[in-house]
Amino acid sequence: MRQKRAKSYKRLVHQYVLHFQFRDPFQVLIDNTFARSLVQYKVHDPLHQLGNVLCTSKVKPMITQCCMVALYNAEKEGESDEKARASQTVALAKQWERRKCNHREPLAPGACLEQVIGPTNQHRYMLAADDPMVRRMLRRGIPGLPIVHYSQSVLVLEPMSDVTERHIAHIEANKSAISSAERQLLEQDKDEEAPEAAQPPKRKRPKAPNPLSVKKPKAAKAPPPPRAPEPHTETTAQQSSRRRKKRGRGGTAPGAD
Ligand SMILES: [Zn+2]
Repeated sequence: MRQKRAKSYKRLVHQYVLHFQFRDPFQVLIDNTFARSLVQYKVHDPLHQLGNVLCTSKVKPMITQCCMVALYNAEKEGESDEKARASQTVALAKQWERRKCNHREPLAPGACLEQVIGPTNQHRYMLAADDPMVRRMLRRGIPGLPIVHYSQSVLVLEPMSDVTERHIAHIEANKSAISSAERQLLEQDKDEEAPEAAQPPKRKRPKAPNPLSVKKPKAAKAPPPPRAPEPHTETTAQQSSRRRKKRGRGGTAPGAD
């Protein structure tokens, strides 16, 4: 794979990881036509090739029951050369995990895949399909569905579909809308908290004991006159209370002796 193409694939896969939460191992749904191409192009190591294009070492190949039925039918109906190739394809596909679709009457592979993947691709499948009709249908209908196919004998990762790009734009728009709303909320909170912060309730505490401590010296019979005419600098109530306490004790102590 050319370096330029590898770079653009890496970027593309990263977009799917980022916006659609794709995670290793990538689950690749392989349809009957892609399976046939693998045999036709004599791909030696399909998982390695898929991994190269999807920029991962962990690919989990899967095939639906209906796609498998299509392969069996091709094997039955084929003649000579084609039959041999179909048998090879069946043998190859049997190595992959069977994705149960539970279609009792087998659907056409495209219809089966559409149902298995679902409108939102919630199981984060990647699709490997060579049937152009199937690719086009699923590409148009399902956002966040990476698709690979063979072009001649070259495996390509399709560029992002319109519906996928629109979906990403929608996600981004929602994100920024939420963050601006959050920003507003935060600013509201700040405004509401500001006045409370200006007058914390703790400041009232030192004032509380003052009336009681003031009474004691008054109750004493002979409170001595203030010794030193200290300049009145009653900056806070607390300071003055301390001063009074000291004086009170000094007054009662000599009387007790
Ligand atoms: Zn099915």
